[in-house]
Amino acid sequence: QSVTYSSGNWAAFTDNVKNNHAHQLNLITLLTNDIEHEKLYFDIQPQVNLTNQSLVGGEVLIRWHNQYLGQVSPSEFIPLAEQTGLIYKLTDMLIEKVFSWASANPQAVANQYLSINISALDLLQEGFARRMVTSVTKHQLEAQKFTIEITETSVFDNNTIVHNNVKQLHNAGFKIAIDDFGVGYSSMQNIVALETDELKIDQFFVMNLLNDPQSQILCRNMIDLSKALDITSVAEGIESEGILQLLRQWRCQIGQGYHLYRPMTPVEYLALLAEKDLPLSEPVNRA
Ligand code: C2E
Ligand code: MG
Ligand code: MG
Ligand code: MG
Repeated sequence: QSVTYSSGNWAAFTDNVKNNHAHQLNLITLLTNDIEHEKLYFDIQPQVNLTNQSLVGGEVLIRWHNQYLGQVSPSEFIPLAEQTGLIYKLTDMLIEKVFSWASANPQAVANQYLSINISALDLLQEGFARRMVTSVTKHQLEAQKFTIEITETSVFDNNTIVHNNVKQLHNAGFKIAIDDFGVGYSSMQNIVALETDELKIDQFFVMNLLNDPQSQILCRNMIDLSKALDITSVAEGIESEGILQLLRQWRCQIGQGYHLYRPMTPVEYLALLAEKDLPLSEPVNRA
């Protein structure tokens, strides 16, 4: 894991630096302050229907640019936010930003949906779903246009608070996606118990598709499992045409990855939507 400094240089975090408490404290202080001042923002990575190439929506990805640290990766600061309890404020702030933006730019969710990552810790909090529902209503948005991406953990097993939150989100119309499926903790039982709408196959399998027979078997089976359970299959981390073709052949429904689109600013995303939403057959000049 690494942090980019504004100079543009990459400074690799050695284990030494990573375990350096002073450094961690510094990161926490800066993150606390930037969350307080709502300095975090988001990019959107488009998602494509693999059957007909249409743009089905986008995943909201949080971004943090700090004046001293430069760009810090969410893989670095999200775990830190979770360890320190900053995550609740961070999620609330992000949801508010995304909903305000979608409300100000209704074309963003007119024909497409937006996926938002939330932390497992959010779902363990009583009242989380109620706040989401209040917020979506306040912004006069349809919950149906939003998918909540969650990464399962073992704490979800038979957890009443988690299940109540998910049920409330569902009842309000939100869709539920299980993120990073197939790595770490994934329970088949939870897929059913959480009434999952979407399975996101972890990019680890997708990236290795062309050269790893085991990833092929697992990936194919995850797609088939989704189909059997009537759940939408999404592959993330599509980095090449070869991988894309394989996934198409296996009837994976939705794709996401650098080979299709990189994460982009909300302004760029709107421009892309405007371009893609043009009628497929423009009037032809037959003269
Ligand atoms: P994720 O939810 O699995 O998101 C996908 C990550 O893969 C994103 O990294 C995306 O930029 C990256 N990606 C997409 N396509 C490709 C590809 O073809 N190749 C490669 N190498 N990478 C690709 P990002 O934005 O750095 O986010 C990392 C993780 O941080 C996310 O993984 C998610 O777990 C977490 N995260 C991001 N935004 C949020 C947020 O708003 N809230 C929470 N709680 N977590 C977030
Ligand atoms: Mg995600
Ligand atoms: Mg994730
Ligand atoms: Mg993922």
